[in-house]
Amino acid sequence: MGAVGTAALQDWISRFSDAIAEKREWLTELDSAIGDADHGANMARGMGAVVEKLGTGAPANIDDLLKTVGMTLVSSVGGASGPLYGTFFLRMGMSAGAVTSLDGSALGAALRAGLDGIVARGKPEAGDKTMFDAMSPAVDAFDAALAAESSVADAARAASDAAAAGRDATLPLVARKGRASYLGERSAGHLDPGAASTAILFETLADTIAA
Ligand code: ADP
Ligand code: MG
Ligand code: MG
Repeated sequence: MGAVGTAALQDWISRFSDAIAEKREWLTELDSAIGDADHGANMARGMGAVVEKLGTGAPANIDDLLKTVGMTLVSSVGGASGPLYGTFFLRMGMSAGAVTSLDGSALGAALRAGLDGIVARGKPEAGDKTMFDAMSPAVDAFDAALAAESSVADAARAASDAAAAGRDATLPLVARKGRASYLGERSAGHLDPGAASTAILFETLADTIAA
């Protein structure tokens, strides 16, 4: 089964921040096609602030870690993605609780709680062309892999693959939430930037657990 500890989750956050910094221009390009060309900058600013904050001391437990990540994102990112990702991490932390390690099913429950937080906040539905379209299949794939007796590492890889497929499936969609929805039919033919950053989130989770 395997378990994921506080230090591994902190490593995930750091890998996510690095990958966002690396893909910043691409995320901004995606947002320039159907939004306001700031998704790369928003995510890089937010995750940069998170890494800086975490550099000042090791969190005592997983709730502490994820609460710090969530609160920092909410307070440092002005765009829609700040409160949405912020809520994801806050809810993940609340679900995990003040523990220093999560087994596969506790990690799955925390990811599900994070997804539910995004739904509560942004009201996205499947096919609205948002980060939900990458995250929801990722969380489902994680649960399905665990139910089929996969290791946590394999479940995280299945989630990453599902997130990437969900991101790609946003290409033909017409946006029904967020700024991209103002474009109507013209939003079709472009990947959703938030779905793209969510695929990075799950890819770095899989990489962390595999490491
Ligand atoms: P803004 O749109 O305020 O400039 P960003 O560009 O950082 O913020 O983030 C845009 C992304 O946020 C979109 O690509 C989409 O995935 C996501 N998003 C926007 N509105 C919603 C919503 N209501 N529910 C879920 N995700 C949303
Ligand atoms: Mg934007
Ligand atoms: Mg904006």
